[in-house]
Amino acid sequence: MGEIDLYASLKNYFGFTQFKGLQEEVISSIIQDKNTFVIMPTGGGKSLCYQLPALIKEGTAIVVSPLIALMKNQVDALRAHSAKEGIAHVLNSSLNKTEVKQVKSDIRDGVTKLLYVAPESLTKEENVEFLKSVIISFVAIDEAHCISEWGHDFRPEYRNLRKIIERIGDNIPIIGLTATATPKVQEDILKNLGIQDANTFKASFNRPNLYYEIRPKTKNVDSDITRFVKQNEGKSGIIYCLSRKRVEELAQTLQVNGIKAVPYHAGLDAKTRVKHQDMFLMEDADVVVATIAFGMGIDKPDVRFVIHNDIPKSIESYYQETGRAGRDGGEGHCLAFYSYKDIEKLEKFMSGKPVAEQEIGHALLQEVVAFAETSMSRRKFILHYFGEEFDNETGDGGDMDDNMRHPKKKHEAQEEVSTLLSVIEKTNQQYKSKEVVNVLVGNVNALIKSHRTDTQDFFGIGNDESAEYWMALLRQVLVAGYLKKDIETYGVIKLTESGEEYLSNPVSFMMTEDHSFKEANDDSIITQQKGGGAAADEKLFSLLKAERKKVADSLSLPPFVIFQDPSLEDMALKYPVNMEELSNVHGVGEGKAKKYGTSFVELIANYVEENEIVRPDDFVVKSTGTNSALKLYIIQNVDRKLSLNDIANAKGLDMPDFIKEMEAIVYSGTKLNIDYWIDEILDEDQQEELHDYFLEAETDKIDEAMEEFDGDYDDEELRLFRIKFISEVAN
Ligand code: ADP
Ligand code: MG
Repeated sequence: MGEIDLYASLKNYFGFTQFKGLQEEVISSIIQDKNTFVIMPTGGGKSLCYQLPALIKEGTAIVVSPLIALMKNQVDALRAHSAKEGIAHVLNSSLNKTEVKQVKSDIRDGVTKLLYVAPESLTKEENVEFLKSVIISFVAIDEAHCISEWGHDFRPEYRNLRKIIERIGDNIPIIGLTATATPKVQEDILKNLGIQDANTFKASFNRPNLYYEIRPKTKNVDSDITRFVKQNEGKSGIIYCLSRKRVEELAQTLQVNGIKAVPYHAGLDAKTRVKHQDMFLMEDADVVVATIAFGMGIDKPDVRFVIHNDIPKSIESYYQETGRAGRDGGEGHCLAFYSYKDIEKLEKFMSGKPVAEQEIGHALLQEVVAFAETSMSRRKFILHYFGEEFDNETGDGGDMDDNMRHPKKKHEAQEEVSTLLSVIEKTNQQYKSKEVVNVLVGNVNALIKSHRTDTQDFFGIGNDESAEYWMALLRQVLVAGYLKKDIETYGVIKLTESGEEYLSNPVSFMMTEDHSFKEANDDSIITQQKGGGAAADEKLFSLLKAERKKVADSLSLPPFVIFQDPSLEDMALKYPVNMEELSNVHGVGEGKAKKYGTSFVELIANYVEENEIVRPDDFVVKSTGTNSALKLYIIQNVDRKLSLNDIANAKGLDMPDFIKEMEAIVYSGTKLNIDYWIDEILDEDQQEELHDYFLEAETDKIDEAMEEFDGDYDDEELRLFRIKFISEVAN
């Protein structure tokens, strides 16, 4: 069949004038009845590769696809291009008898060119019998990586396809298509489908317009994400989270901060999901916060950023999900937050699964760890993972990641590479990376003992460097091609030919050490303002404390009624320089900011200027204040002088929790007049005694008050009185 025909059909059936990427070559291969294997990134135009030949060829093409929703979309699209409704059909268990009859007669009459089936339907005996009796042009297997347990989406039903196809007919050409496949997965697909002879077409996986960035995930991740989104206001973005709960939380946080964000996850009802998806597509919402349920078949070309709140469980997933950014070729910022804790969480999820599956899951996760922690070109790392060479000096998008924009210093590591390679050789190339590193630094464990490796003279030969150092070097040497990971054995490290060559003929090797996310995480704990922790800026914190003392003295009040410690710590973290910013500080409401805040913001403003501190320009990241409705309820009902017991009961709170809520209210500067209640439980003398105590006390701590009064008052009485006190003197 000539080229002209193909272009005419392309225009005729699809309205396009040009083929995309390798489409034309793929289509020619299929038209010539060759087994064909297509690896193209998402959006590359794989569907057309089998749709066009199916429309041209005699008979019906069977398309195996794992997702019913995707099948329906495709069938609808094909019908839209054709005068004949029956040109494409889905065959699955949702059809009633009449519908099945219609499908079968359309196929028999030669009207149906494409028949979409899920693998389960294809195994059904009656379907096999029917398909045997009609002309099948070829079988296309979409999302073919589902065949391999080494892929990110293994589906056991995919493994029997070859046998079923053989039963349907002899010599039916088989077409496999996938968007991601490591070399190992590619090999599995070809072997399992029995098409090792296939013409293979592989598009480059390089997405030069995407910028890859990994940041440490700390307790401040909400603020980090909010800031990023605010700095990209008005742009479309997707934020992926692992859990539904987190999706809801984060969407709320963004909304509270004035960002048009909607949640999306499988726990929402279908109507809401469709609504939110449409809002995103129609740009009524800028940001979708979603679980991975979102994105399949979503084709919004101008998604400007994809954020991973949680690191994905494989590089494939990361690549797929980040791949939804910058489809139009424009800017696409891919920002992932990483903490090793998340990896441990993911491993825990897997622990119930069969051992082999766990081993695979673990191996995939280790690649994610390596990717996150590496300091080399992220693009090079990803492409190497998919079996593609990339030169980050000359390649497209070579500088488009955090590591290349902010490179760490490199140093010569020729000698260390030789040491590494020779240790691998001397241990008979039988260890995975962790064990290799253990041998280098001299860590004994049961496995190493059982091999007596710890008695060898090279054991611990690299102990002047850390385990992290060797792990980083090993990963870089892998990507450089001197070593390879044997996948069948779950990642045993072997020398390649060039690795053998290196041993006798070493050359320069420049390495950079990995990022230490451990350090970053520890830092972040210091900057947390959770009560009692150290402040971010110790110097400012002590200045603020001195200011508080001054103000307290001048008003003859104890310092704690001005601002509590956690509030000062938060100021030392956020550097509020005006009243609005101050009222967003932990434990500071508007009332309190007005009453006591002036000298504090002045002090901070001076301090910021003198020390040339770069403040996060939009620090005002508000928390969702999930309890604000409850607080309002309490304020209103205390105002109505309702019994405190009744208010607590109405909200299902016990007294201690209820008191805690009231404390939060008065400490952040809102008055709460509970005199009517206090008068019931404490007489005048008692009240006077307590008032004098709190006025003179060094701290407002209840246990110190307990000690002072030696059991005269109980915890509840003291706390309630303190609420009255703070409310009166401080607000
Ligand atoms: P994949 O399955 O590889 O992810 P699709 O088959 O869904 O990709 O195609 C992605 C998009 O590209 C679709 O919107 C499709 O209409 C479009 N497309 C495919 N081929 C062409 C072409 N030759 N010219 C223009 N657009 C195309
Ligand atoms: Mg597709």
